[in-house]
Amino acid sequence: DIPILTIDGPGGAGKGTISNLIAERTGWHLLDSGALYRLTAHAALKHAIALDNEASLAQLAARLDVAFPVTDGQSQTLLEGEDVSRAIRTEQAGERASRVAALPSVRQALLQRQRDFYQAPGLVADGRDMGTVVFTEAPLKIFLTASADERARRRHLQLQEAGVDASLSSLLKEIQARDARDTQRSVAPLKPADDAIVLDTTRLSIPEVVDRLTELLAQ
Ligand code: C5P
Repeated sequence: DIPILTIDGPGGAGKGTISNLIAERTGWHLLDSGALYRLTAHAALKHAIALDNEASLAQLAARLDVAFPVTDGQSQTLLEGEDVSRAIRTEQAGERASRVAALPSVRQALLQRQRDFYQAPGLVADGRDMGTVVFTEAPLKIFLTASADERARRRHLQLQEAGVDASLSSLLKEIQARDARDTQRSVAPLKPADDAIVLDTTRLSIPEVVDRLTELLAQ
């Protein structure tokens, strides 16, 4: 069997960073499923499709022309050939992504595309519903979480490093709003799978989390 590790959890819990490090360490493929929702929302903006036009958005998601080329160890995100790596990372893009992600037919349209990432030598799947919907058979499922305050603080630091000014209190509000939308939606709401291991990283460093997951993978 091809090995797979699913890492779900709320925004800002460190899933992206941790998934990248585990994929590097294991040499497995990486599925950043959130990027697919961000890309769908971005494509909608580009093609002037309203974020509540479910049928058109599902069509858009099904036909999404995306590529994740890696040059000099840096991975890029291309939408219709255009580099949107930075544009899809803003908090506003995340907010729009969570709106399209609440639409059942958009989720359905992206399902097979996500499952196609499951290939040898293995997969690290990062998202909200990797363990509950997309890869229900995964033998190791992690639910990574941290307090909303801590996630806002981390996001603030990340933005500062990128030279972006943002207030901590508005980041906290955005995080709480996105949490509410992701946990309260009717389809694939954010929650740990019944067989997931919940890891609260509020007081853990990145290396501590990576070590813990490496231990779990070795078991
Ligand atoms: O993880 P990221 O912040 O990039 O995800 C953006 C949004 O996409 C999330 O807030 C969530 O609404 C949605 N998403 C999802 N299912 C996933 C990954 C992301 O609904 N597997």
